[in-house]
Amino acid sequence: MPETFDGTKVLLEESEIPTHWYNIQADMKTLPPPPLSPATGQPVSPEELARIFPPGLLAQEMTQERWIEIPPEVRRLYQLWRPSPLYRARRLEAELDTPAEIWFKYEGVSPAGSHKLNTALAQAYYNREAGVKKLVTETGAGQWGSALSIAARMFGLDCSVYMVKVSYEQKPYRRILMESYGASVYASPTETTQAGRAVLAKDPHSRGSLGIAISEAVEVAATHDDTNYALGSVLNHVLLHQTVIGLEAKRQLEKVDRYPDVVIASCGGGSNFGGVAFPFLADKLTRGQAIKVLAIEPAACPTLTRGRFAYDYGDTVGLTPMLQMYTLGHEFMPPSIHAGGLRYHGDSPLVSQLYHDGVIGAKAYNQRAVFEAGLMFARLEGILPAPESAHAIRGAIDEALLAKEEGRRRVILFNLSGHGHFDLSAYAEFLEGRLEDEPLDEGVLAQHLASLPEVAHP
Ligand SMILES: *Cc1c(COP(=O)(O)O)cnc(C)c1O
Repeated sequence: MPETFDGTKVLLEESEIPTHWYNIQADMKTLPPPPLSPATGQPVSPEELARIFPPGLLAQEMTQERWIEIPPEVRRLYQLWRPSPLYRARRLEAELDTPAEIWFKYEGVSPAGSHKLNTALAQAYYNREAGVKKLVTETGAGQWGSALSIAARMFGLDCSVYMVKVSYEQKPYRRILMESYGASVYASPTETTQAGRAVLAKDPHSRGSLGIAISEAVEVAATHDDTNYALGSVLNHVLLHQTVIGLEAKRQLEKVDRYPDVVIASCGGGSNFGGVAFPFLADKLTRGQAIKVLAIEPAACPTLTRGRFAYDYGDTVGLTPMLQMYTLGHEFMPPSIHAGGLRYHGDSPLVSQLYHDGVIGAKAYNQRAVFEAGLMFARLEGILPAPESAHAIRGAIDEALLAKEEGRRRVILFNLSGHGHFDLSAYAEFLEGRLEDEPLDEGVLAQHLASLPEVAHP
């Protein structure tokens, strides 16, 4: 076993912030097939994508170069909170009476409260470089909207956020936070876009979904010349930007002479998962490093564990390119669970391909088990996790208990993607015994899976 470490956290200097992002496309045996145009069903043309994304990000979306330099201006802004701390969860270890070591990377120290600012700053930078004046996006729980509001402000861009109505109502403080940074926030579905009007015509009481909010934001970007769209997860360039998490964590663990046996993260669109896991998966892909990597998702929206690996739209209305990914069907409406950031019907094509190829594993939990883990963690380690992040905690606890059963001293690393200070109404429900599991409607799921578009691979 490595040398003794009796501290609580491992810190890096600002000068140790990574200079490059890691691109896992360089090392994957099978790359995801190309995105398909919703109009033609053929591989989407660069011109089509250029209507909503700047050249810098499009290049990153496609490149198979292993290392991509972080622009100095972005790295400078990362210094506001990076390098983020790596903690050892000693009290949690003691409580579980496990021989495993539990380490976590804490992304809640960012001004936005989550990992999402890692990519928001990069995206705002490349858009400003391209002369774009305004960014438009969707947000579920409000984490991505908050991050983009901050990033847009830092680069002098306007920002509009379509916020899923159920979250808009559950989380007024998230909206106020975005507005404090100068963003305009709309409860989606709205009457202001064709996509929103189409949804409301079918269901006037729609409480929205990420898929609908994406449709609205993409429509606005596609119909305004000075406006681009920004996505907080799923796409290759987003996961690329998040690899600062894993690169730092790797260096921090090296400092204490550790290497993880298990890496765990929650998985919505896959960006915090890819961010922490890809730099370690590089070792698995290139030199067969034995490492177990687990994506944790909600049982109410079990994209990897129950979805189909197929081409599907990224949004509900069908405006975005089709991606080859694990999906529950683009019209699937996940129950209104509190981990809003994990309520997405699809998943990152990179994460999906790795799962399909058996390189990573996945597990789904019901929300009561997740909140139990979140509260246990808060009471032992002091940090109240976002419900999304609590999924990773649940996964880490179960891995630590497994290590105990097997009497093995594993090193477990998980990503604590954000704090839960804007999720107190959800914790209130749990504390008052009002929080229920949200069972999947099996019939409805089967229907959505059966109605996926049948698309031949190009
Ligand atoms: C958005 C979010 C997630 C899930 O999104 P990914 O793209 O899968 O990372 C997880 N945790 C927090 C705190 C989030 O804000």
